[in-house]
Amino acid sequence: MTSQLTRENLVRRDRRDPLASCRELFELPDGLLYFDGNSLGPPPRAVHARLAEVTARQWGEDLIRSWNVHGWIDLPRRVAAKIAPLLGAQDDEIAVGDSTSVNLFKLLAAALPLRPGRRTVLSEDGQFPTDLYMAQGLGELLDGGLRQRLVPVGDLAAALDDDVAVVCTSHVQFKSGRLVDMAALTRAAHQAGALVLWDLSHSAGAMGVDLGGCGADLAVGCGYKFLNGGPGAPAFLYVARRHQEAARSPLQGWMGHADPFAFDLGYRPASGVGRFLCGTPPVLSLAALDAALDVFDGVDLEALRRKSLELGELLIELVLGGCGGFGVELLSPRDGALRGSQVSFLHPEGYAVVQALIDRGVVPDFREGGVMRFGLTPLYLRYVDVWDAAEVLRDVLATRAWDEPRYRQRKKVT
Ligand SMILES: *Cc1c(COP(=O)(O)O)cnc(C)c1O
Repeated sequence: MTSQLTRENLVRRDRRDPLASCRELFELPDGLLYFDGNSLGPPPRAVHARLAEVTARQWGEDLIRSWNVHGWIDLPRRVAAKIAPLLGAQDDEIAVGDSTSVNLFKLLAAALPLRPGRRTVLSEDGQFPTDLYMAQGLGELLDGGLRQRLVPVGDLAAALDDDVAVVCTSHVQFKSGRLVDMAALTRAAHQAGALVLWDLSHSAGAMGVDLGGCGADLAVGCGYKFLNGGPGAPAFLYVARRHQEAARSPLQGWMGHADPFAFDLGYRPASGVGRFLCGTPPVLSLAALDAALDVFDGVDLEALRRKSLELGELLIELVLGGCGGFGVELLSPRDGALRGSQVSFLHPEGYAVVQALIDRGVVPDFREGGVMRFGLTPLYLRYVDVWDAAEVLRDVLATRAWDEPRYRQRKKVT
């Protein structure tokens, strides 16, 4: 049954929403409409108590003993076990630590020797730049042993040839929100003899990912976006079991050693994915991420995806219907099946428009090229929030409220 699109009907839809109670688990400023959970997730309430416990009691009172008595040393593994089900992975296929950039470097370096004689890393030309930079840096180290090739995202499968060792691409593109078909691209890459390294930064925690079901090889992703682990939270990496024995980390830290506390003078890799750990685990940020991940307890990932698509559909309908005359265009795919959990619009003055929205309590973000990104986090966004945000956007555009010098003034972090 389709009901009329009114604010009252959306309030009713929020009351029926099976995920509605998840909002209570988050700390969100009153009156703020937050559409930037794809860049920095808000803190789940449980994080504050957990950090206080870890800093005051564990670190403060038990000091060094905490590595054992509070299980600090196993924290990366415990956090991995919470992330794995969100990704369709086994617990022993995930390692948690370092940043997405560093993890990407580790896995790219591990991937190339798995495909000897091949040296192309194939990526899309809209890939998040850090992924491209890390490959370029590895290429300099390998002195000709790595060739980076960039093609439009839709051309990745067609660009596969017998020099491609690994396809390195995002599952959801950061600017457009375009979702790549993981099963299909993995199949095509395998048929061409290549591996795929997925960057899940914009899909982990926003939708169920099925690494295992897709036969995926390798993946990395952020802890601070839809996983809500806090600014600079530890990232994760995934190595399918079948690759673990042969895959070697180029960063041979002691935490990836088979027996760190033997203090051997020679490196021997730990068995399994643990060899991709490097230095001492960042306990405070792991504790925050660990507590944050509990918001996914009992969440049906299909319901999460369904709501995410509905929020996206609603936003597109309201914005194209209400703001189409003001120079706003849809950048994201119109078809939900091809879209992640964000909707991006284009506007020639996108930067100033976004600043004007933030000033009015609606927080999306801006990316170069006039891109206004609205991240949709189904755990705490309400249908009525989308309505209200679209109203503010329409008002900002209709009155040209964005047309002020203070809104054009670029900030350091956009
Ligand atoms: C956010 C993001 C990153 C960030 O990497 P960091 O090392 O955490 O700074 C990397 N890749 C993609 C695709 C991202 O969206």
